[in-house]
Amino acid sequence: MLLVPLKPGRSLMDWIRLTKSGKDLTGLKGRLIEVTEEELAKHNKTDDCWICIRGLVYNVTPYMEYHPGGEGELMKAAGADGTDLFDQVHRWVNYESMLKECLVGRMALKPIALPKESTSALSEEKKCLNGMLPESKIVGTSKSFAPSYDWFQTDCSVTVVVYTKQKGMNSEMVILDYEDSRLRGEIIIRDYSYLLNIELSNAVQEDIAVHVAEKVGKVEIVLKKKDNIPWKKLGQPLESHNSFIKRTDQGLYYRKCKLISKTEVTHDTRLFCLLLPQSTHFQVPVGQHVYLKQIVTGKEVVKPYTPVSCSLQTHFKEPSCHDGACLFLMIKIYPSGLFSSELDRLQIGDYIYVSNPEGSFQKCQVQTLEDLFLLAAGTGFTPMIKLLNYVLTNVNSLWTVKLMFFNKTEDDILWRDQLEQLILQDKRFEAQFILSEPSKEWNGKRGKISSSLLSEFFKRSKQDSKVLICICGPAPFTEQGERFLKDLGYCKEEIHSFTA
Ligand code: FAD
Ligand code: NAD
Repeated sequence: MLLVPLKPGRSLMDWIRLTKSGKDLTGLKGRLIEVTEEELAKHNKTDDCWICIRGLVYNVTPYMEYHPGGEGELMKAAGADGTDLFDQVHRWVNYESMLKECLVGRMALKPIALPKESTSALSEEKKCLNGMLPESKIVGTSKSFAPSYDWFQTDCSVTVVVYTKQKGMNSEMVILDYEDSRLRGEIIIRDYSYLLNIELSNAVQEDIAVHVAEKVGKVEIVLKKKDNIPWKKLGQPLESHNSFIKRTDQGLYYRKCKLISKTEVTHDTRLFCLLLPQSTHFQVPVGQHVYLKQIVTGKEVVKPYTPVSCSLQTHFKEPSCHDGACLFLMIKIYPSGLFSSELDRLQIGDYIYVSNPEGSFQKCQVQTLEDLFLLAAGTGFTPMIKLLNYVLTNVNSLWTVKLMFFNKTEDDILWRDQLEQLILQDKRFEAQFILSEPSKEWNGKRGKISSSLLSEFFKRSKQDSKVLICICGPAPFTEQGERFLKDLGYCKEEIHSFTA
């Protein structure tokens, strides 16, 4: 290849700068498309030039002036397959990374005439070869709502891209696991889940990055190749792959987590810290719970638990999706409790299964609140922990947060020191401890939940303030709380009860 003099401002460094500027170099606003041969052939001019290299199509128009071989060299492959040309003269060029921002999509596979019975086999093969599925298997919802996915690769990575078509996506909505060469991704969109479930064709490293472009709803899963060889296909679709189904119609997915610490909170309650696998990306949203699964006397037993922050003093921070992500659980051990007493026997280094998060609470319920009242009994305090951290750090409209905390004795009050410290630290926060079995020395409130206790403490900061009351505790406590609050004039929308 003859080198041609480049215009000023058209050096390799200038090209790299342009690719990093965030400009839309393909004209497709980040969308990847499936390109037919006919479509490719249309883009054969200097001001509109697409080239196919090893099955991937690039819009090289913006690169023309930066190409050391000049326009003429690139135009030899305009609107056509340039793989051979690149192999002959540009073998040393890492075009995958140079032209990454110019990627238009993947060549469509040519239809092959087949006997009727092999058509479905081909369509499955097309899916896994091409990775570009025009439509997901949609169960019970509208087609336009359903996400789709695609994948592309560079020398050292494979990126799976999911187009959710949803604004306001965030990383809490993406749950990802990679285990025994299976990649399982779940993208939560309201009451639905979009599922990726693939046996990957080649090995990847454990550290998987997840990027969410919140405004456009694009989710990128970046897998690092173990052996830097080109992949012919992403992998083999497994059960429910590329389907979009109601979350309630799906079974729970569990991954194995390692117990890394266990600390005393009170005489019968412990803070368990579980380490998520490095290849798991998973954050439990405020107000949601997970299920723990373990074998007890030869039988699988499952119970719900609500992850907490490691302390009340931390500013609200989602756990990182990178290595070292931990789950903290505050669990009361009942001596005769089937599950909790077995949990207490776990040793540091032992494993336990943890499910995906569930729960009906949504952050938007507190976004514009003025008063937040928390009504907790015993371990019913657990969902209040992340909620407290979240609202005190993020909800600017908030005037007051009041916690009424019911326990049997003083020794049962969870994180009492931390709560008292928080009262001193944050003027908006107040807490009242109410004991049902107090000692003679207790000079605080006593008794069980009642209408008079509630109306005394839960006073709005101003008339008609925007309020939410969250309740959690033993079922009869929650039911009584709901009833008393309704009698006191609070409406259904102003009450949220945490239940399974
Ligand atoms: P079980 O075998 O179910 O009970 C056996 C015996 O234990 C009972 O007969 C009784 O003697 C004793 N016991 C059990 N529960 C009680 C009780 N409430 N009051 C008095 N005695 C009792 N628990 C936590 O510790 N932390 C959490 O974060 C948490 N989150 C939860 C989230 C949800 C959505 C729900 C529904 C429950 C949550 N729980 C939590 C409760 C937890 O799921 C179990 O019910 C609890 O650990 C008891 O299970 P177990 O198998 O040990 O006891
Ligand atoms: P506990 O037995 O120590 O009781 C704590 C206080 O709750 C008591 O002092 C009393 O004031 C009140 N209480 C207990 N039973 C009552 C009743 N029948 N009627 C009215 N008030 C009553 O509590 P615990 O052992 O810590 O149990 C906590 C409960 O919270 C468990 O049942 C657990 O399943 C539930 N929980 C639910 C969630 C959730 O998200 N749904 C989360 C955590 C805990």
